[in-house]
Amino acid sequence: MDLLNLISSVSLNPFLIGSTAAALISIISFKLRLLTKSGAVSSFILGTVVFSFGQFKWSIPLIAFFLFSNLVSKVGKTYKRKFENIFDKLSQRDSHQVFANGSLSGFFVIIYLFYPDEIFYLLYIGSLSAVSADTWATEIGTMRETVTYNVLTLKKTNQGSSGGVSMSGFLGALLGTIIIAFSAIFWIHLNIIYYFCLIIFSGMIGAYIDSVLGASVQLQNKCTICGEITERKIHCGQSANQFSGIKFITNDFINFTAAVSGAVTVFFINVIMN
Ligand SMILES: [Zn+2]
Repeated sequence: MDLLNLISSVSLNPFLIGSTAAALISIISFKLRLLTKSGAVSSFILGTVVFSFGQFKWSIPLIAFFLFSNLVSKVGKTYKRKFENIFDKLSQRDSHQVFANGSLSGFFVIIYLFYPDEIFYLLYIGSLSAVSADTWATEIGTMRETVTYNVLTLKKTNQGSSGGVSMSGFLGALLGTIIIAFSAIFWIHLNIIYYFCLIIFSGMIGAYIDSVLGASVQLQNKCTICGEITERKIHCGQSANQFSGIKFITNDFINFTAAVSGAVTVFFINVIMN
């Protein structure tokens, strides 16, 4: 088989292209320390599903989310050093994080295979918008010293604490939603103003719900050595005790909830507007 035949037979097989692209992205991200080993394996699985079944229409927004989230995380990483004892995870993403942020993408692309209704694509973009908003809010909100408030009590709180909100975090979230809205723009048949409002609003609602859950029910541990409140299981080399919140409501669980909230918001607005 000559090269031309090989290429044309490859292009007939979306699964082969999808899995190759997913493998490349996962391996490069692992080498760049954007993903842990488990994170690379899960993004390979998720990427294969979305790229193979979804083609460019579904792949571009997911890649945009991944690329820009990693970019802002890498930039934020140097600034975030001082929070590393509070946050459970820093910029290297593991399988829990990959699935918390992306499992809905795989879900919607498969649903769309059987029921090719554009609403599922919008729900997908809404869910991506929410997780992008959350990522950007955290990264931009902790990049510089800034006044941070607890989203529920509106009292001043430590920068980087769960449920903390700030003006720079809000602007970061907004940027995160706008990037996702742009990434899908070629495949949208709605009024463009309505579309942008829909995706930005849904993403912000998702990020808001993320903050509310972070301020109320998210699991917080307390270090037995230094007494710091942390998302981490291990602090100062010792396992930290549960301090507040509910045991299974981890940061990953809340990110997944935010993704669902973004999609649900799109759904309800769509129902109201039609
Ligand atoms: Zn400690």
